[in-house]
Amino acid sequence: MNITPIRTTERRTGEVDAAMRLLADLEGAGDRGEFSLVYQKQMAPDGERVIGVESLLRWDHPRLGAISPGDFIPLAEQAGLIRPITRWVLDRAMAETQSLTHLSVGFNASALEFADAEFAGEIEALVARRGFDPARLEIEVTETAILVDGEEVHRTMARLHALGVRIALDDFGAGYSSLNHLRLYPFDKLKIDKAFVTECSRTTQSAALIHAVVGLGRALGMDVVAEGVETRTQAAFLRIAGVCGMQGYLFGHPQPIEALKMELG
Ligand code: C2E
Ligand code: CA
Ligand code: CA
Repeated sequence: MNITPIRTTERRTGEVDAAMRLLADLEGAGDRGEFSLVYQKQMAPDGERVIGVESLLRWDHPRLGAISPGDFIPLAEQAGLIRPITRWVLDRAMAETQSLTHLSVGFNASALEFADAEFAGEIEALVARRGFDPARLEIEVTETAILVDGEEVHRTMARLHALGVRIALDDFGAGYSSLNHLRLYPFDKLKIDKAFVTECSRTTQSAALIHAVVGLGRALGMDVVAEGVETRTQAAFLRIAGVCGMQGYLFGHPQPIEALKMELG
C-alpha cells in the first residue's frame, strides 16, 4: 500500500493552514511591538571605513519566536500586506539612524511597490515628516521579484530620483533577467549576489563574472557593491576587482541600533 500521496496532501494542507495563521498574526505585528530592525554595515573597499548601513527586519512572534524575513516577507507580498511593513521599516530606520548623518541608510522594498502609484509620494511624506535627508536613503529592490515594465514603475523611479533617493538592484545575478532589468530601469547601484561572492575566489567563472559586473556597472555609471563577504580572500579579490563597497559577516553581522552606535562611537 502506498500512503505517500495522503501524507503529502496532509502536509500541504498543514503548510497552508500554518501560512494562513502566520499571515493573520503578521497584520498589526508592527503596532504590537513585535517588529524590530537590525543594521548591517556597508564598508568602503578598504574594509575599514563604514559608508552606510542596511536595515533588515526582524519579527519576534509571541508564540513561535524569531521568524526569518526570508519566510514571512514572501507571504506578506503574496497577501498584499507588504505596504504597511515597508512603511514601518522606513519610518523606524529613519528615526533610529537620524543622528548618523554621515551614513547612507538602505532599506528593502518589494518590486511590487514600484508599480504602486502612491509609493513615491508616501516616501516623500515620511521623509518630510522626519526631516530626514532623502539623499541618505537607498531603496533596495530584489530582481528576483520581477519588475514589470510599466509606465508606473518609471514614474515611481523618476519621482524618487527627483527627491534624491537612490535605488539599488539587490541580489544582482541571482535572477534570470538581470541584464534586461538594467536595460529597462535607471538603477544607481548593483549589489552582487552572495552566491557569486562566495565562489569568487574558488571558481574562474564566478571571478570572471564579478569582473564583468564591475565593468558593466562602471560603463553604465552605477556603483557596484558586493554582499555576503565572509573571508579576507574574498574581500581582497573584490577590492582588486574594483567594487565600491562591501557588506558581509567579515565586517559584521546585522545588529540592533544601540550596538551599532556603540561600535561607531
Ligand atoms: P537581503 O536584502 O539580500 O539581505 C541580506 C541577507 O543576508 C540578510 O539576511 C543578512 O543578514 C544576510 N547576510 C549578510 N551578510 C551575510 C554573510 O556574510 N553571509 C551570509 N550567509 N548571510 C549574510 P536576513 O536579514 O535574514 O534577510 C533575508 C532577506 O529578507 C533579505 O535579503 C531581504 O530580501 C528580505 N528582507 C529583510 N528585511 C526586509 C524588509 O524590511 N523588507 C523587505 N521587503 N524584505 C526584507
Ligand atoms: Ca537587501
Ligand atoms: Ca541581497
